[in-house]
Amino acid sequence: MGNIIDGKKISASIKEEVKKEVEFLKEKIGRAPGLTVILVGEDPASQIYVKNKEKTAKELGINGEIIRMPRSTTQEELLKKIDELNNNPEVDGILVQLPLPSHIDEFQVTLAIDPSKDVDGFHPVNMGKLLIGKPGIIPCTPYGIIKMLEYEKIEIEGKNAVIIGRSNIVGKPVSILLLQRHATVTICHSRTKNLPDIVKGADILVAAVGKAKFVKGNWIKDGAVIIDVGINRDENSKLVGDVDFEEAEKKASHITPVPGGVGPMTIAMLMYNTLQTFKTHNSL
Ligand code: NDP
Repeated sequence: MGNIIDGKKISASIKEEVKKEVEFLKEKIGRAPGLTVILVGEDPASQIYVKNKEKTAKELGINGEIIRMPRSTTQEELLKKIDELNNNPEVDGILVQLPLPSHIDEFQVTLAIDPSKDVDGFHPVNMGKLLIGKPGIIPCTPYGIIKMLEYEKIEIEGKNAVIIGRSNIVGKPVSILLLQRHATVTICHSRTKNLPDIVKGADILVAAVGKAKFVKGNWIKDGAVIIDVGINRDENSKLVGDVDFEEAEKKASHITPVPGGVGPMTIAMLMYNTLQTFKTHNSL
C-alpha cells in the first residue's frame, strides 16, 4: 500500500514559511506584498477559486484584492485595468482568473501582464525562461508538484517520468521541470498510442488529463510515484482525480489523493510566487 502524499500538510508548511517571511519583510520595507485577482463574469467555480485566493492571501499577511468585472467587459477595458495594475507600485502580483468569456482573447490578456507581476507564470517571457532554464516565475501547479516530490525526498534524477497531458498550464511546464531535474520524460496526449504500456514504464507518473479515474491500477508499475492533478466529478458527483485511486494505491509507493493532494499546493505556490515578485520589486 502506497504512502499518501499529504498536500494539505505540505502546503501548510509552505504557507507558514511565506507568512513568516512576509511578516519580516513588511517590517523591513514598510508595506505588504500585494496580489490582485481579476475575475471577469460569474463562473461559479471561478468565484470559489478567487475567494480562496483572497482568503489565503489575507491569512499570510498579503494584501489580497479581487477586482470583479461584469461578463460584458470588453477586451480593451480589461487590458486598461491590467495596465493600471502594471503601473501600481503597491501591486506585486496580477492574476486574471481563467477561463475568460469567449469574446476576450486569453493570449492578449496574458501578454498584457507585466512579466515581473505574472504570478501565474503564464506570460511567454516566463514560459520562455522556464524552457531555457533561467530564473523566472514558475506556474503554480507544476511548481507545487515539484515541491511535493522534494518534500517527500523522491529522487527524480534518472527516473522515467511519464506525463499524461500537454496543456500550457500543467503538462508542458511540469515536463520541463522534471527534465531540468534530470528525469527521462515522456509526454503523452490524446493521440498517444499504447498509453497503458507507456505508463507501465513510469517511475513517476503525472496525470493531468481531466477525465475521472482514467488511469487504471493495472497500468501502474509496482513502486511508482503517482501525482494526480485531475479534478473531476464521478457518476455520483464525488470529487475524484484522473487516477483510479483505490486500485493505484495498491501498486504505488507514493500517491496524491483528490481532494487534498495537488489542489492545496497550487494556491500555496501562488502565495509563494507573490512573495518572490514582492522581493524582486524591492531588489531583494
Ligand atoms: P486540458 O484539458 O488543457 O489538457 C488535458 C490534456 O489531456 C490534453 O493535453 C489532452 O490531449 C490530454 N488527453 C485528453 N484525453 C486524453 C486521452 N484519452 N489520452 C491521453 N491524453 C488525453 O487540461 P488541464 O491541463 O488544464 O487540466 C487537467 C486536469 O487537471 C483537469 O482535471 C483540471 O481540472 C485539473 N487541474 C487541477 C489543478 C489543481 O490545482 N489541482 C490546476 C489545473 C488543472 P490533447 O492535447 O491531445 O488534447
